[in-house]
Amino acid sequence: MNIIMLGAQGTGKGTVASAICEQTGMLQISTGDIFRKNISEKTPLGIEADKYISKGNLVPDEITVPMVEDRLTWDDAKNGVILDGFPRTIEQAKKLDEILNAKGEKIDLVINLVTPKDEIIDRMLTRRVCTNPDCKATYNVKLHPPIKEGICDKCGSPLKQRDDDSNPEAIKRRLEIYEEKTSPLVEYYKNKGVLRTETVSISINRMGKDVANDIVKDIKK
Ligand code: AMP
Repeated sequence: MNIIMLGAQGTGKGTVASAICEQTGMLQISTGDIFRKNISEKTPLGIEADKYISKGNLVPDEITVPMVEDRLTWDDAKNGVILDGFPRTIEQAKKLDEILNAKGEKIDLVINLVTPKDEIIDRMLTRRVCTNPDCKATYNVKLHPPIKEGICDKCGSPLKQRDDDSNPEAIKRRLEIYEEKTSPLVEYYKNKGVLRTETVSISINRMGKDVANDIVKDIKK
C-alpha cells in the first residue's frame, strides 16, 4: 500500500505519518527530512537544497524527483510507503505515477489534512524538532511539549526550531507556494478517487494522533 500525506505546512503531516508507521510498520519517506539530514551533514545535495529551503522555495524537480525515485528502490520501501512532503506539484504527482506504474504499483490513499490558517502559523512558530537527524522527532511547545524542556523524549538530543520555521518571510512564502502549486493536488487525487480529507484542529479537539488512529483502524479492516 502506498499513501501520500497532503496538507499545508504545520497541519501535522509528519505526526500523522509517523503515528501510522508506528502502528503498521509502513515506511515514512519525508523529503523535508532527507533534505534536512543532507543539510546538517553538509553534503553536496544538502548545500544545493539549502539555497531554496532557507528562502521557503521548492527545491527543483531535477534534484527532488531522482532523490525520491532512488529512495523508493531501497529494500525497506518494498512493502509500501507513506510519502510525506512529496509530491508537492502536479508535475511531481505525474512523475510519481510514472515511477509507480513502472513497478506495477499505484497510490492507494491520499490523506489531505486541513487546519485553520491562524492555527497553522501558530503551530509552525511553536514547532520544535530533534537535532539528531536519525531521530527527527517533532514536538510543539504548546500542544505536545517534551517532558524535559528543550530535550528530545526519544533520544535525549537537544531540540531546535527549524530555520525555515523561525523566518516569517520563509513561512509566508511556503504557504503561498502551497496555495499556488500544491493545493491543486487535492483535485488531482479527488478525481482519482483516493482522497480522504481530515480536519486537524484544536478547536474541534481532533489532533494528528486521532486522525492516525482512525486511518489505521480503516486500513486494518
Ligand atoms: P517540509 O519538511 O515537508 O516542510 O519540507 C521543507 C522544505 O523542503 C520545503 O519548504 C521545500 O523547500 C523542500 N521540499 C520538501 N519536499 C519537497 C518537494 N517535494 N519538492 C520541492 N521541495 C521540497
